[in-house]
Amino acid sequence: MTPFDVIIVTDWSGGNDRGPKPKPDAIWAAVARAGRVEPAQYFRNRQEYETWLTGFLKAALAEGSRVLAGFDFPFAYSAGFGRALTGQDDPFAVWDWLEKRIEDSPRGNNRFAVAGQINAKFDGIGPFWGNAGRADVPHLPRKGTERTCTRFAEKRRVEALAKGAFSCWQLAGAGSVGSQVLMGLPMLGRLRRTFGAELGVAGFGALGGEALVLTEIWPSLLAQEVRKRQGSRIKDAVQVEVLAGALAAMKAPDITAMLAQGDAEEGWITGLGDAALREAAEALPIPGQDPPPLTDDCFALPPGVSWLPVDEALARLRSRLGPVTGPLAEMQPLASALGGGLARAPVAARANPPAPNAAVDGYGFAHASVAGAEGPLRLPLVDGRAAAGAPFAGAVPAGQAIRILTGALLPEGVDTVVLEEDTTCGEGYVAFRGPVKPGANARKAGEDVAVGAALFPAGHRLTAPDLALLAATGVNQVSLLRPLRVGVLSTGDELCAPAPDTPPSKTHDANRPMLLSVIRQWGYAPVDLGLVGDDAGAVRRRLDKAARDCDVVLTSGGASAGDEDHISALLRREGNLTAWRIALKPGRPLALGQWQGVPVFGLPGNPVAALICTLIFARPALSLMAGGRWLEAQGFMVPAGFSKRKKPGRREYLRARLTPEGAAEVFPSEGSGRISGLSWADGLVELPDGALDVAPGTPVRYIPYAMLGLSAG
Ligand code: AMP
Ligand code: MG
Repeated sequence: MTPFDVIIVTDWSGGNDRGPKPKPDAIWAAVARAGRVEPAQYFRNRQEYETWLTGFLKAALAEGSRVLAGFDFPFAYSAGFGRALTGQDDPFAVWDWLEKRIEDSPRGNNRFAVAGQINAKFDGIGPFWGNAGRADVPHLPRKGTERTCTRFAEKRRVEALAKGAFSCWQLAGAGSVGSQVLMGLPMLGRLRRTFGAELGVAGFGALGGEALVLTEIWPSLLAQEVRKRQGSRIKDAVQVEVLAGALAAMKAPDITAMLAQGDAEEGWITGLGDAALREAAEALPIPGQDPPPLTDDCFALPPGVSWLPVDEALARLRSRLGPVTGPLAEMQPLASALGGGLARAPVAARANPPAPNAAVDGYGFAHASVAGAEGPLRLPLVDGRAAAGAPFAGAVPAGQAIRILTGALLPEGVDTVVLEEDTTCGEGYVAFRGPVKPGANARKAGEDVAVGAALFPAGHRLTAPDLALLAATGVNQVSLLRPLRVGVLSTGDELCAPAPDTPPSKTHDANRPMLLSVIRQWGYAPVDLGLVGDDAGAVRRRLDKAARDCDVVLTSGGASAGDEDHISALLRREGNLTAWRIALKPGRPLALGQWQGVPVFGLPGNPVAALICTLIFARPALSLMAGGRWLEAQGFMVPAGFSKRKKPGRREYLRARLTPEGAAEVFPSEGSGRISGLSWADGLVELPDGALDVAPGTPVRYIPYAMLGLSAG
């Protein structure tokens, strides 16, 4: 895929501090890595952002990642300006020139004054214009029409191709970009100094293999794709996510070719008119919409392959399947998020803990006031106390202490807490023995989770502890994937619903209640497709309904490729049915097909084989289709509590449970009709593909049902 491991896209701002609450026209940055886009982060001002960015880039490069960082402001001015300003042809000399002169802090900056100073160097009025302040600025006209300096082109050549792009000379007014350039180039100059030869800049000529590449981007390029995904969110946030996601999804040759475009003097807007970038953006998930269906030959086996070892069958499923559900249109509150798969990776909106606080009940003071003191110490107590939710408003003077309770914010002047049990109290003072370690019993702000930290990757399924972490870090709603709808259909003329008086010629449908419950326990949405006889018309109607209501279907019975059951005949004719003959016991062929684009897993009819095939094959496959990760069946080695001579050739799963001593005992009969053994067991013993002589004490792999997602709690 992409030659970059990490992509960062930033929507820059030339304005003043925007406050703590996320707002449009502030700085927004989105990171894409490992195939996922993390939600855009908000930065209230340039200083906060630059500190974050520099730290982030250093950490990424230290890990050996290659990083592409895109910024939405021009990296250069029109031809001739750089040379006129700096006397050099190097376009980056302008970055350094501005870096030396621009002063910036959250309280204000001197951009208009610097623009005026530049104007003063050239004949006539301009080229910079626009002034957002009340006071006039020497040499900076308020209106563009007042200008007489015509030495530099109004726009760069590349901007002729970018419809609606503003001129870099305009410093004020809605949509203008001039202030962003003046405030942005100094930061780029500092990045160049910090990262030296590791840093390359796209758009001015050939790149080397630099670990960090900066590039100029223009979010309006993908305006249409942003609109489709915006919903009620802030556009700047969605914009950087879409662009980061699209860049991350581009193929290596496409992005390399795109970054190679440029102009040695004026730079370039990466991605202008680039079809590959647009296509990558179009393919990104849209809230409320699902990804395109799987290809209809996804289960096909290469010619000549007929007999698959279990691991090979799993590897094939893993490589052929992908997510089929997209993000829900609405954000979900935590109360309804348990078990949901994350459509977007949440980041901490607040640090945990948000501020320094006391870890115990005791007395707080400034460590410096007792530093080095050993033996008995006695500190006067201030009036009042600090408790969780009831902070102490004043400051604690040096040399004094305050009563403090667990969870209370440390008052000003307190950095250390002595445990109540280690103190004695008298009239107006607290006594204890030194030395006390600096910072003892005090929790630092963010010592658990820093603000902005990625909490979970997209695709992660939320557990109860995860909800605690989200709540603690200020995330009260999450973007979830639509739950996977899994249809369950039983087939066979001999089947009927369970009843006490069924004639012996009939078989009770045992698979459907079992499989529907497995699906529910796995956190998917079960769809009961009922029972259907061996009647082609009826099977077809039921599959048509399944294709409308389900994302994937599990059928059982009538699945073997050789028999005359209608379901396999029908799927073979119209559903690209492939029978995977898997070297597995118990299990017959697993039939895989698609009905109108919906994957169909044809499980064996026998309930023992049906459950084992579901646990071994359907479990990881459904997880991928639901947008989650591939799931390995986790087991552990235990001594066998049984004897068995196993022939080579097929992997075997035995119904098993642990004895009180921790050995695996197996159900006395291996007969695949013995449903009682499934219920007797608490898990499976997995015997490897090769031959094995098991005697009591031989280590064998035991996989508890709970590790396969089957647990009664
Ligand atoms: P089949 O795969 O259709 O050849 O079925 C194998 C065995 O499993 C036969 O004895 C079927 O009657 C039985 N069987 C098929 N479907 C079910 C079901 N839903 N519940 C219980 N037994 C079944
Ligand atoms: Mg049958």
